[in-house]
Order: sequence, then C-alpha cells, then structure tokens
Amino acid sequence: MKLLTDGPENDPLLGFCMAVISRYAEKWPPTEQVLADEFVDWFGAKSFMTPTAMRELCLAKGISLSFVPLPPGLHGVNCSFQDKKEIVISEDELVPFAHVHTLFHEFREMLECVFAELGHATLCPTVSLEAKAEEFAIASRMATATRELPAYMEMVANIEKNWQRYLGYAFLAVLEFAYLFSCAFLPQFEDVISEARRQRYVRT
Ligand SMILES: [Zn+2]
Repeated sequence: MKLLTDGPENDPLLGFCMAVISRYAEKWPPTEQVLADEFVDWFGAKSFMTPTAMRELCLAKGISLSFVPLPPGLHGVNCSFQDKKEIVISEDELVPFAHVHTLFHEFREMLECVFAELGHATLCPTVSLEAKAEEFAIASRMATATRELPAYMEMVANIEKNWQRYLGYAFLAVLEFAYLFSCAFLPQFEDVISEARRQRYVRT
C-alpha cells in the first residue's frame, strides 16, 4: 500500500494516527470527543483562524489547503494521492466559522482513511463517515474553546475594579455560551441559509 511506504517522519498525519492507535489500542475506538481533543492538540487549532493561519497549520502537517469556489451545497473536499494530501474548502462562507468547521470535517475523513489503512478503522460499515465527521468537527471546535477559556478567565481575573470584573465574567459566560451554541448548530444554520438562497434563485 503506497501510503504506508512513506514513514511517519515524512507523513505527520500517519504519525498522528499511529500515536493515537498506540495510546488507545486497549479501548479502541476512542470516542469522537477524545479523538477531537487529541487532534486539536496535535494540530494546534484555535477558535479563530484566518484562512492564512489555517493554510499554515495544514502545511506544517504536510497538507495543502486552498479556498476555491465550489458548487452550492458542497462545503469542502479532501483527497490523498500517493504522498500528496489536499483539502479544498468552498470560498463562500455561509455562516461565521464555517471554514474552520469544514476543515475539521475534512480532517476527520482523512484520519479515518489512515486508521483503516492501519487496520484500525473507528467506524463499522453501517455508520456514516459523513455524520461522524460532522460530530468530530463540532467536538473539535468545542475543544478549542475549552482550551482557550482559562487564558480568558485569567484576563478577567486581573481586572481590578470589582464591578468591571463581574461584568467581564458575565460577558465571558455569554460569549462562551453563544460560541458553543454556534458550534453545535452550525450545520443547521448552513442548511437554513443555503435553502433560503436556493429559494431566492428559484424566485428570480
Ligand atoms: Zn464529508
């Protein structure tokens, strides 16, 4: 198999999958949450990432990422050919953070491919990879927020005036809630917006 002829030293994704397998071999497969936590750590993902930041992180893992116009309804695609790995994301971002969500989704599909080639598929044939990739993307975005929260908490804790600090905590709580809500419902928001657009096209 071509993929396995390239060692993990030249293929960071393969190295990551092998490390995850060795850590969780006893209780395989890991949950999507565990996989998401491992992935976010390894990838160095953040909640807010510009397309340039995403491209750089991907490049560091041997994956080329590009943003191009894609047909309506298609958010992203990924492909692995020999030692080349590529992710393409739709330039059109229907809702905020959709690019990050799509990036994580495409990664999950690539991870499954490598896990399967290593004889450690995480899904049985009846489970949809598409649905799992959505679950993984949501879990990964939530994991980035959880990792970043302590730094924000510390910033607020350093505010001297009591009332300003309380206001800071309240603001942070609202922001965190809104962010987690947006993580969980992003796929639905996208569906609603693309449906609204489709109807607009039908009408004109
Ligand atoms: Zn997909």
